[in-house]
Amino acid sequence: MLELKGISRSYGRVQALRGLDLTVPDGTLFGLMGQNGAGKTTLLKIIAGILAPDKGELFIDDVNALKNPAEARMKIGYVPDEFGSYDSLTVMEYMEFFASAFRMKGRTARVRCEELIKNVGLQERADHPVETLSRGMQQRLSIARALIHDPEYLVLDEPTSGLDPHSRVSIREMLCELCDTGKTIVISSHILSELSEICTDIGILEKGTVKATGEVQPILERIGNSNPLRISVLAGTQTAMGIFRRHPCVRSVTLSDKTFSLEFEGGAEDEAALLMQLIDADIPVNGFMREPGTLESFFLQMTGKTEERLILSNDDDESDL
Ligand code: ATP
Repeated sequence: MLELKGISRSYGRVQALRGLDLTVPDGTLFGLMGQNGAGKTTLLKIIAGILAPDKGELFIDDVNALKNPAEARMKIGYVPDEFGSYDSLTVMEYMEFFASAFRMKGRTARVRCEELIKNVGLQERADHPVETLSRGMQQRLSIARALIHDPEYLVLDEPTSGLDPHSRVSIREMLCELCDTGKTIVISSHILSELSEICTDIGILEKGTVKATGEVQPILERIGNSNPLRISVLAGTQTAMGIFRRHPCVRSVTLSDKTFSLEFEGGAEDEAALLMQLIDADIPVNGFMREPGTLESFFLQMTGKTEERLILSNDDDESDL
């Protein structure tokens, strides 16, 4: 488990992190969301041990990382947002260079490097200079490099930024596979749909503090349940309106061109029961759906920016009938 307590870090007068608390449970693929300047990179660098906080504590499992940085670093692999310049090295030389930084030598180092190069699909490029690799390949090599010492935690800063869709998918698949092998992964991204696809847990960073954290699936369900339920009928709008008004889960209802929009405080079973009720009342229903929740909605809600949503109260929709 990664545990950060009261972490603060300033750059001159800019306070990047302000007494931040965060727990990343073991085995999670944890996504960090936040606007530009929220403090994501600073936080990831502190976890990776390449930037010291001004204040606070960081525990990696039972290791106090600020007091035992060398021990902590063995547990963490870090993929920065920039590849760096190692252009004249070949892929193999690049890997061996980092293997030597972890005191791996000779055959052991070579076997480990070959294994990782193969795992990220670069075996045919092993003797090519790093500068000839595409950005997607460089990113895969960067991940292989971060795994050289087989760390339990992998920390990646915007790993899919600037990649084409195919390379993005390949990085995402790689991260899911690594998580399945038991590694705990922390990733930052601006692409929230991407985080919702691969992450098990997320945290929202705003102005240097953690605004919210949680498991992705329950969050998406909760957000989905706050989206309007849209029901289209071919006829029987008055009967349907009567049913909606009497229904205990319906908070408000609007009607536009035979499509109802309901603020509905119920789960999937309540939705199914409502559909049955409409069918029992011989109402020809030709559309029934609730838009799924998205991390975008969650992010906007948690950061105080509400989405524009048109829901009229029960009293306002009389004229629609
Ligand atoms: P982005 O999404 O744009 O990468 P971020 O969430 O990663 O942003 P950080 O890069 O951690 O945010 O920056 C947090 C704050 O600290 C910002 O106001 C940034 O301008 C400032 N900052 C970061 N690095 C430095 C630095 N080396 N010197 C001065 N200020 C810095």
